[in-house]
Amino acid sequence: MPELAEVDYFRRRWDPGMGKVVEHLELHAGARVFRGCETAGWHELLQGAVMEVSLAHGKQMLFGFSGGGWLGVHLGMTGELRVESAGYEPGRHDHLVLRQAGGVLVFADSRMFGCLRLDVAVGGPPEWWRQLPPAVTSGGFSIDWVDGHLRRRHRSPIKAVLLDQAVFPGVGNWMADEILWRMGLHPLTPAGNLAGAPSRALRYHVRWVARRAMTTIGTDWSEPPASWLYRYRWAAGHCCPRPQCATPLVREEAAGRTSCWCPSCQPPPDGLTPTRKARPVRTGHRRENPLATSSARPPLS
Ligand SMILES: [Zn+2]
Repeated sequence: MPELAEVDYFRRRWDPGMGKVVEHLELHAGARVFRGCETAGWHELLQGAVMEVSLAHGKQMLFGFSGGGWLGVHLGMTGELRVESAGYEPGRHDHLVLRQAGGVLVFADSRMFGCLRLDVAVGGPPEWWRQLPPAVTSGGFSIDWVDGHLRRRHRSPIKAVLLDQAVFPGVGNWMADEILWRMGLHPLTPAGNLAGAPSRALRYHVRWVARRAMTTIGTDWSEPPASWLYRYRWAAGHCCPRPQCATPLVREEAAGRTSCWCPSCQPPPDGLTPTRKARPVRTGHRRENPLATSSARPPLS
């Protein structure tokens, strides 16, 4: 499932459509990506409207059009945004197609875990967007915000807390593992162990990983540096990239997700003997099943 930086990469893919009129709209009414939506008014709202702005927040995207139409997009597991050339013939997975002069904006989703919504709001984004939690790179993502949630969920594994989209929007499985590896924390460490002074360090590492990911994946889908756990977490047989460590990485289920960590740099918390059941590992693919996540259901659903 795309995380914060991957989502922003997809948002930028529709940049060629900015400032252009939607001349014609096609959609697969009744497709599961429109669940909870009435699509009857979409043509009236979007045809003839200019795409004026695009926003990303965590795993959500929002495209604003003249006339007050706001298109919300959640990619789910297999959703993607593309631009095709004029005259493009939509495929069966292209559930929303916006035709503009010189190009075609496409939302495609083969498995339809993603979802779309259209709201009308004048003068700014719709209410649901304004009620999203503070972005992890924003000032609102304060030490008090992080510390408060660590205290509230003090018995929960820190991995599960990091995946909570209501607190850490945009942080998914690989980002959580990267953050914990950098902090030397086992994924099953109780969140309460980080309450108080350590919450400052957690906030720092969340923001650091988010910002660096945006400059690589979020910009051009390039890989983060070789010093990141990210580079080795999907393929079996790799070792901790930290100099002087080189311990074989562990891939096991933790907090309901296949997690990757270094057993030397991230020892288990006191009283915990980790299970060592081998789990199948997905290789070479960044996306994972959103139905397997413990994070909150996204507001677009
Ligand atoms: Zn290590």
